[in-house]
Amino acid sequence: MESTSHRHGLTIAIDGPAGSGKSTIAKLLAERLGIGYLDTGAMYRSLTLVALEAGVDLDDQEAVAGLLPNLHLSADSNPVNPHFYVGQREVTSLIRTPQIAEAVPKIAVNLLVRAWMVEQQRRRMAEASADGSGMVAEGRDITTVVYPEADLRVLLVASPLARMKRRARELFGDDSAESLAKVRAQIVDRDASDSKVSEFLTPGPGIELVDTSELDIEGVLEAVLALLPAESSGAHSRM
Ligand code: C5P
Repeated sequence: MESTSHRHGLTIAIDGPAGSGKSTIAKLLAERLGIGYLDTGAMYRSLTLVALEAGVDLDDQEAVAGLLPNLHLSADSNPVNPHFYVGQREVTSLIRTPQIAEAVPKIAVNLLVRAWMVEQQRRRMAEASADGSGMVAEGRDITTVVYPEADLRVLLVASPLARMKRRARELFGDDSAESLAKVRAQIVDRDASDSKVSEFLTPGPGIELVDTSELDIEGVLEAVLALLPAESSGAHSRM
């Protein structure tokens, strides 16, 4: 069927700050296009969990890097309900706790860790391209460092207020002033910390910018699908 060949080995790279909607959009895209899904943030979160459990000082970059040779991270690339594993152990919900969110920036600024992560992520994208399965990867440095050769590279941005409102509704079910105050640090502080190691707030050449501030999920999805290279853009609508 025509649609399958359109999608053969399609790779999409999506970057964006916390609350830009990149995880939601990346999963929906993967599902819609029938390609794999790679959540690179989950990999940084998994190492954070391992380091905390091992009692390693997260500021000791060499000690954290010492964990890498024995670290076996995997995920099923099913975008509907992805599961994450360290070795045989499932860590899907353990890596979403506030403690991990708070500690992960220390891991993310470790350049020894970043080099290892980039190498692993690049390999997974290259394999999905070569074997024809295709993959959408999301993170902070996918469009620029991990896989700049992706068929489509998108930077999703949204105003800090729009992102704070989304996170507040997600966590507390409303976006009252009180709820916004509670999530401010998560959004604004994380931007500041993440900006130290990756450029994900302004697009480089060849990277498509999509501002999601005024769009709902379906609107963002349509905007990104419209950016697919010509030979792939019809794939989702024809089966
Ligand atoms: O996307 P998520 O919120 O799960 O990412 C958690 C953290 O992992 C980010 O705040 C960032 O510090 C780090 N990260 C990164 N590079 C990536 C993905 C995530 O530094 N490609």
